[in-house]
Amino acid sequence: MRLLEHVPLRTCLGCGKRATKGTLIRFTRPAGGTLQLGLDAATGRGGYIHRDQACWRQFATRKGLLRSLRCNVDRPERVALIEQITQNEPVASLG
Ligand SMILES: [Zn+2]
Repeated sequence: MRLLEHVPLRTCLGCGKRATKGTLIRFTRPAGGTLQLGLDAATGRGGYIHRDQACWRQFATRKGLLRSLRCNVDRPERVALIEQITQNEPVASLG
């Protein structure tokens, strides 16, 4: 049994803090598409956000580039993603 596992950290696009992948919701933006839940296996390009309404609000209202997605995303599209999350992420569900 290894005591020191390598734990990959990802940055929450809401609060900007780093956290382990397991505590974050993954989402992606396929080429030509809009933000959606889940990670695009083809590109591996995705974003992460806490299961926390405060982070969702920050994500929806923040300005600037979403660096991990390498693109800018209009606010209505971000709000739509948050709506997807609230519908698909009941507290007990761990993607
Ligand atoms: Zn966060």
